[in-house]
Amino acid sequence: MSKLLEGKCALVLGVANRWSLAYAIAEAFRREGACLILTYQGERQRDAVEAVGQELSAAQVLPCDVGNDGELAQLTEKLSQSPGRLDAVVHSIAFANREDLTRPFVETSRAGFTLAQDISVYSLLAVARAVTPLMTAGGSITTLTYLGSTRVIPNYNVMGVAKAALEAVVRYLASDLGPKGIRVNAISAGPVKTASARAIKDFSSILDYVAQRAPLRRNTDPQEVGDAAVFLASRLSRGVTGNVLFVDSGFGIMGL
Ligand code: NAP
Repeated sequence: MSKLLEGKCALVLGVANRWSLAYAIAEAFRREGACLILTYQGERQRDAVEAVGQELSAAQVLPCDVGNDGELAQLTEKLSQSPGRLDAVVHSIAFANREDLTRPFVETSRAGFTLAQDISVYSLLAVARAVTPLMTAGGSITTLTYLGSTRVIPNYNVMGVAKAALEAVVRYLASDLGPKGIRVNAISAGPVKTASARAIKDFSSILDYVAQRAPLRRNTDPQEVGDAAVFLASRLSRGVTGNVLFVDSGFGIMGL
């Protein structure tokens, strides 16, 4: 059977280490034959992401702080030189100040709220604008969201509001870019212990709760997120845009 992403070129933003959801996605993309381009936020992460890039045989590993319009413009410039065309883009990026994931939501500062919206939400729009000129044959943009967008999850706070906005951005981008053949979707992953997740106070108790209550009675395996991302990047999902696909052992359907 031919590989699902053979001949496609994918840009994956948000690999910090082997525990990142973006790592599982990049690994699944390689398995399915995609050419891979990874990015890192700054010099601090460069060596680690380059090592991951080697492991996954990435064609390029490029700098991109999504809070910096100049770096996004440079990314477009570099990608237009090589590979010249993108078919799939994964935005697996979020950030909020640790204190905003530990103290009561009502105490969120204006600066903390704005920062979370900028890096976790506006960045999807900025990335979409940067890559659209390269998606000349259409393609797929996928972001990562969480149930905290529509339900109150203890301590998720400012990030829950950011995910609600992110899901709205997905719908507006899907409408804007659909005529160019570019689909935009989100994967709502169940909780997974990653560097970002560890910033959320009492994150382990969320994992325990989900494992007990989810219909599948277990937590999400990052490889399941990788496989769902392959589906969204491949021709198999050619009729799907503006959607949130839950990969969460079914937890999101539960009332009690
Ligand atoms: P992660 O490994 O920590 O990945 C987050 C990534 O965001 C890191 O690579 C981080 O880079 C990057 N990032 C932050 N600020 C950035 C900036 N200004 N420019 C460029 N990159 C920046 O954690 P993760 O859990 O895999 O998170 C990936 C996505 O999945 C996030 O959107 C998260 O909300 C979502 N998600 C996670 C879970 C979960 O339970 N883990 C569940 C549902 C959804 P640095 O390391 O360099 O800061």
